[in-house]
Amino acid sequence: MNSTTETARAGVTSADLYRAVSLLERADRVALACHVNPDGDALGSMLAVAQVLRAAGKDCTASFGEPFTVPHNLRFLPGLELLAEPADFPAAPEVMVAFDAGSLDRLGGLAANAMKAEELLVVDHHASNTGYGTAHLVDPHAAATAVLAERLIVALGMPITHEVALSLYVGLVTDTGSFRRATTTPAVHALAARLLATGIQPEEVAGRLWENAPFGYLQALSGVLGRARLEPEAARGRGLVWTTVTRADRAAYGLSYDQVEGVVDVLRGTAEAELVVVLKETDDGAWYGSTRSKGDVDVGRICTRLGGGGGPGMAGFLWRGFPAEAIGRFRDALSRATAPL
Ligand code: MN
Repeated sequence: MNSTTETARAGVTSADLYRAVSLLERADRVALACHVNPDGDALGSMLAVAQVLRAAGKDCTASFGEPFTVPHNLRFLPGLELLAEPADFPAAPEVMVAFDAGSLDRLGGLAANAMKAEELLVVDHHASNTGYGTAHLVDPHAAATAVLAERLIVALGMPITHEVALSLYVGLVTDTGSFRRATTTPAVHALAARLLATGIQPEEVAGRLWENAPFGYLQALSGVLGRARLEPEAARGRGLVWTTVTRADRAAYGLSYDQVEGVVDVLRGTAEAELVVVLKETDDGAWYGSTRSKGDVDVGRICTRLGGGGGPGMAGFLWRGFPAEAIGRFRDALSRATAPL
């Protein structure tokens, strides 16, 4: 069994790909899962592979742990009809594939199913990946899990249809922040070019993803941004900006949890802060901290210390308690992690 560091260091080898392909080729039935509260990369990667496996004649079940709600702005993804309620997910799958989940607990309620799976293939790009599973396509340098999903599909010898390409493109464009993040290599643009060549309209996709919020979201933003705090001295002068999005904020404008995902990108525009935290209250009263770093501070390492995970520029953690404690813990971990400038 690979340790975390060995898995991360090696990236994806041809032996890993060979093993993944033979697992899937042998299986008649495949169960696919992605992380809870899925984003474009988690859902897009999973649905791309699900569509390919269905085309190959496999019996597939794709799902994610409760709450089983597809984010509003992802309801145009092809392959949504392949989704099943987590209650209908096989209790002990012969072959299971996990997408974009750096640790078993990120699968939420489906972690129990994953633990009983005979074979568990993990397709992921989080630097904090714990090395769980029996087979791995894990590369912390990949810009998105969609990059690894595409390699898997190509290795399976299956065509990338327009629908499959659209699913992968949504993963790529969301996880790279519209090709703005440091992970956007020439290879990422080359992959985007191959996907676009199947007939994807980037303006239409962007419109669905980011220009599709109810007016109430903008009204809720005024309160959320109004109470944002700037701490210029945090992280040895790198600066921290943070805010909260409460259940009451969402209830006042009829917004679901997934509809406030973009708040962190608004705060990111702050010149005086390299670090961004948005504490979002979940439907069950916990707080999910979405964190971003625009500089040399690795938020993935900080969030891992807080029981969460992620990559250097984008990470998250869950906190059960008061939001002031959550930001306090983050600040403490930050001051211990950052070297003098
Ligand atoms: Mn991802």
